[in-house]
Amino acid sequence: MRDLLATRARASPGDAALVDDASGREWTYAALDAAVERTAGRLAALGVTRDDHVGVLLETRPAFVRLVFAVQRLGATLVPLNARLSPTELETQRERADLVLLACEADTEADALTAAGAVPVVSVDEPTDSGVRVLGERDPEDVAPAEWTPEDDLALLYTSGTTGDPKPVRLTFGNVVAAAGASAFTLGVLPDDRWLCCLSMYHMGGLSIPLRCALYGTTCVLQRGFDAEETARALAEHDCTGVSVVPTMLDRLLRADAELPDSLRFVLCGGAPTPPDLVAACEDAGVPIHPSYGMTEATSQIATARPAAAYSNPETVGRPLFGTTVTVVDEAGDPVPTGETGELCVSGPTITPGYYDAPAANAEAFGPHGLRTGDVGYRDDAGRLYVLNRRSDRIITGGENVDPGRVAAVIRSHPAVRDVAVVGVDDPEWGERVTALVVPEDGVALDRDALETHWEGRLAGFAQPRTVAFVDDLPRTASGTVDRAVARERARAAAD
Ligand code: ATP
Ligand code: MG
Repeated sequence: MRDLLATRARASPGDAALVDDASGREWTYAALDAAVERTAGRLAALGVTRDDHVGVLLETRPAFVRLVFAVQRLGATLVPLNARLSPTELETQRERADLVLLACEADTEADALTAAGAVPVVSVDEPTDSGVRVLGERDPEDVAPAEWTPEDDLALLYTSGTTGDPKPVRLTFGNVVAAAGASAFTLGVLPDDRWLCCLSMYHMGGLSIPLRCALYGTTCVLQRGFDAEETARALAEHDCTGVSVVPTMLDRLLRADAELPDSLRFVLCGGAPTPPDLVAACEDAGVPIHPSYGMTEATSQIATARPAAAYSNPETVGRPLFGTTVTVVDEAGDPVPTGETGELCVSGPTITPGYYDAPAANAEAFGPHGLRTGDVGYRDDAGRLYVLNRRSDRIITGGENVDPGRVAAVIRSHPAVRDVAVVGVDDPEWGERVTALVVPEDGVALDRDALETHWEGRLAGFAQPRTVAFVDDLPRTASGTVDRAVARERARAAAD
């Protein structure tokens, strides 16, 4: 099998492939294919060959899409890194994924240089005085397009790191094709659809859009980042028929001083629970929302609700995707009857073969019913799924998942901090607000500014607590662990 774009460019060369909202530029599938061919040739000139791992640290923009397909053309593996992480976190991810090259843009050059160690860094932008080499300066080499089998790794994608360090997930060519097929079936995507990508492409929600579009022959409209008014404008201006969002974005779109266009046929909303109120508000406003449940290990969606199903019950994430099996199991790992709550396990062609280079984690994660998601939920008589919470606590703020344990560890490393608990507090704008309860050392003056200076560079911006409350002690359970329910109550009082 050839890469996804090569196949599409042969089938429908003159169709619109990519539209860049920022510049207004458009590429047909033939033009995108030619641009990708040049990028692949330049990567080859830098020594990238089949099976190499190529890191990408870019915002959502055409150069990212070109790299996605250029890396594929060489038979190499794409490793997108989260541009919002600190350089130290990026360095850890670079090491774990065995990168041979890190591609960046002008805005991320400094972070890329710090994170890359001895690995070469190359920029997709014009030369700056940082000393980073520029990809476009190279003469492309001729490349023979790689042949793919379904088992080959197309990408390593990091999980969000909610329950610990982010894990690099292997996603194969077969996983991506299966996920695209199943999702098209649910959403009814066709070649004349125009799908707006305003999500980050270092999460599967964003990355999956150009990949799927190439498979369907659909047009991908790129927007560098989400902004309610601007995104509403882009949807109308480019006659978009679909868009992928996280719940926080959808909430802002509905509140924005802008109409959503009639062209809109599907709004795929996932990554975090979509509050039932929000689903109901969409239905009232005629927004065709598909609440969806997914995870990186499932190449994104596990279940997606159709609008009608959501309307009849706004709490459901719908039925499992075509080809995906969800089994609800008890603590012993045995399936429970319909209606009973347990851990969700998933299997099927979209599920990763495992984490990269992590035999111990894989042995723990996979069981007789497939991948253990760590999520708790149930299924109703009609086969619809409900996701309640995680087995471990986590915070989702603005669509980004935050590991409270990690945030607490960073705060605790400040010499004037005796103890700390980090919890999520419900927030109408962010979904949840990261809140820290901090116990200072006796007799030491400590304020928010001092903590901010301490966590800057150690924590990604989205993980930095929005509220800090200084307290005399932390609530504890009988066994001495922090009582998270009470901590959350206190944090809520402090956030008000
Ligand atoms: P890590 O695996 O490193 O701890 P993570 O699980 O947060 O991080 P992702 O793969 O980005 O990384 O997120 C998937 C998780 O997001 C799911 O397992 C689930 O807990 C949560 N999630 C996604 N969609 C929904 C939803 N509709 N309802 C509830 N939870 C959701
Ligand atoms: Mg996870």
